Amino acid sequence: MIRAVKGTRDLLPPDTAVWNRVEQIARDVFRSYNYHEIRTPILEETQLFARGVGNETDIVSKEMYTFDDHGTMLTLRPENTASVMRAWIEHRLDQKPGVQKLYYIGPMFRRERPQKGRYRQFFQIGAEAIGSESPFVDAEVIEMVMELLSRAGLSGANLIINSVGCPNCRPAFVEKLREALKPVANSLCEDCQRRAETNPLRVLDCKIPEDQAAINALPSILDNLCEICEPHFHAVRSYLEEREIAFEIRPRLVRGLDYYMRTTFEVTHGSLGAQNSVLGGGRYDGLAASLGSNLPTPGIGFSIGEDRLVMSVDQTPDAALDLYIAPMGDAALHHAGLLARELRKAGASVEVLAGGKLKRAMELANKLGARFALLLGDNEIAAGTYTLKDMKSGEQTPVTKTQLLQRLKPNV
Ligand SMILES: [Zn+2]
Ligand SMILES: [Zn+2]
Repeated sequence: MIRAVKGTRDLLPPDTAVWNRVEQIARDVFRSYNYHEIRTPILEETQLFARGVGNETDIVSKEMYTFDDHGTMLTLRPENTASVMRAWIEHRLDQKPGVQKLYYIGPMFRRERPQKGRYRQFFQIGAEAIGSESPFVDAEVIEMVMELLSRAGLSGANLIINSVGCPNCRPAFVEKLREALKPVANSLCEDCQRRAETNPLRVLDCKIPEDQAAINALPSILDNLCEICEPHFHAVRSYLEEREIAFEIRPRLVRGLDYYMRTTFEVTHGSLGAQNSVLGGGRYDGLAASLGSNLPTPGIGFSIGEDRLVMSVDQTPDAALDLYIAPMGDAALHHAGLLARELRKAGASVEVLAGGKLKRAMELANKLGARFALLLGDNEIAAGTYTLKDMKSGEQTPVTKTQLLQRLKPNV
């Protein structure tokens, strides 16, 4: 038997209804903030991610699905920000009026070690706002993502924010960090010892419990922001306070990549345990330059792990079916087909399944989760009234076609 590839999975009904609901909420929220959808190819040239995500990251060095396509190295996208920025540069979206606000929903691919809740094909819902340096945009992006999570039904989400400085102030901070690490590096874990030399910022990411006290005592980037980054972060915080959006400041929330600038943020959720980050985001004003463009492209964005979000929200699927029609006999089947077409045109979801006895038909209607069942035999057709059964209360009422349309209306 051929099975789904390791680390991938089939999403089946009724679960797909929950996925669709989450995605519909996302689309509604994006629209209300004037974001529009972008669909980039799932395949890109490998060098896009090498430059846009960073050669030294785990993603690029270990986790990408890359293959030689007759001499061109191609990769299944491991994330989408680099692709969006490539499209932005390629189509000169800088020439469009205003800030370009783009969103995407789709699969990404990383060859991670399989573990619970992690997949090699996973889904992200993300957005990018490109073309403004203003902290107002940062706050609006964060407000939007919190609105999305709350409407999707994720309660108890914690917003964590930070500023990672800029090319003016961060290098000096990194040097300070390197100095401060010298006397303590010996006592830290192996990864930290290496990073203390190669990339001291990433020491701040260490999750090893024994290292935490020493790492917490290291200098904070927030005491080392320049005269542009400091007021920018201050403005982001006050915009969030005005909107009554609760947040925690965590100076250790940094990103190891050079093109990240100023605002970074993350949302965690208790139900997700150790893998508790639902989304990460940040400002990436230097990304376009690292892709070889000289267009000024300040941008900020985020991506939500949709698999984890779906796992953390209400799993009850919407009512599956408005009406189940049980035709008794051949004439009734013809009649049922035409009636179903009319009701479907009016917006109802209708299932017609012929054959079997009445009792079996009612059992099936129940299993299919139908709100109503319609009994249809020669007598009903001759009389022009049908018997409509409310599957919850069991109540049966004779209805004409017009009355039937009326009864189905609340859901239509
Ligand atoms: Zn700065
Ligand atoms: Zn460590």
